[in-house]
Amino acid sequence: MSSLPDYFRPRQSQLLDLIRALVERETPSRDAARLDEIAAFIGSQLRDLGGDLDLIPSPGYGTHLRARFFGADSPMRAENPRDAQLLVVGHLDTVWPVGTLERLPWRVTPEGAAHGPGVFDMKSGIAVVLESLRALISLGIKTRRPITLLLTCDEEIGSRTSRDLIESEARRSRCALVCEPPVTGGIVKTSRKGVGDFTIRAVGRAAHAGLDPAKGVNAIVELAHQTLRLAALNDFERGTTVSVGTIRGGTASNVIPAEAVARVDMRFWDPEEGERIVDTIKNLAPALPEARLEITGGINRPPMRRTPEIGALYHHARSLAAEIGFELGEAGVGGGSDGNFTAALGVPTLDGLGVDGAGAHADHEHIRIEDLPRRAALITRLLQTL
Ligand SMILES: [Zn+2]
Repeated sequence: MSSLPDYFRPRQSQLLDLIRALVERETPSRDAARLDEIAAFIGSQLRDLGGDLDLIPSPGYGTHLRARFFGADSPMRAENPRDAQLLVVGHLDTVWPVGTLERLPWRVTPEGAAHGPGVFDMKSGIAVVLESLRALISLGIKTRRPITLLLTCDEEIGSRTSRDLIESEARRSRCALVCEPPVTGGIVKTSRKGVGDFTIRAVGRAAHAGLDPAKGVNAIVELAHQTLRLAALNDFERGTTVSVGTIRGGTASNVIPAEAVARVDMRFWDPEEGERIVDTIKNLAPALPEARLEITGGINRPPMRRTPEIGALYHHARSLAAEIGFELGEAGVGGGSDGNFTAALGVPTLDGLGVDGAGAHADHEHIRIEDLPRRAALITRLLQTL
């Protein structure tokens, strides 16, 4: 295998066509019909490659796709069930509503970037994994163990219907590779903050703002007090963040508002710190004498901590990248992914293995085309050697 990048380079335009085909299938979370369709589209390609395919319906959300490869002819026979396979995780959904393509169509620039909604997060990552599997098969390269590819349809909304599936596959896995976008520069992710999510509903009492103001209990004022308390929980040095992201309340300017609701995002590195903040939020007491608070939510993704096993996995990937001819950096990030779930089970996880680019969830979302051959080479070598 002298030069996998040389294998992938002449196939780059084919790979770009596949990425474009995925980007031009708009797949916002919860759009079940479109997510069913893209799962069927990718599934048929995986089946053509000889994958053992399961399309797992998730009513109201779409379809999760699971494809198993090399089950019959891998030399590695797992004695420990945790070594049974290598898991590759990705997601089919994007944050972009249908119609975004009209505003931000697929576009390749003279500078060598490919733009389009979901191209970086993470349709190019899916395409590269598919092409890496194709390379293994057409070059007759043996892997050390069976490979399971899991592409879920609800990652961007917290993986509520896929978490069990991800965790049950992870429990059988030697390690997990996540083809989410890298940090710009092609830098893989070896740790991720834990994520919490809360809804805080303040309940007051409506009254006429002009005739009976003293009879009202202003739910917006109540929520304003709570917003400041929540803001005071931020500890940037420790990496703990609490942010009131949305707030709504009231009905008209001349009515003392009886209700106001806030959505709150919380991030943390240390599990104990996470629990402490959850406790604090759940025990927030009303600031106004007659107001009431209803607080729901909690930790949605545990932190992915950089264990020695994750460090070893990164160093393995780094040495493969050096053989291919590039330097692979690592970083810890505040954003969560399904890698948080696999890592929290003790499964060594390497995340951010997708194609270099920038602008996840932003209008300037793009990938760098020149990164495609080496990223595909890296994924291929990881699938081969782990
Ligand atoms: Zn993503």
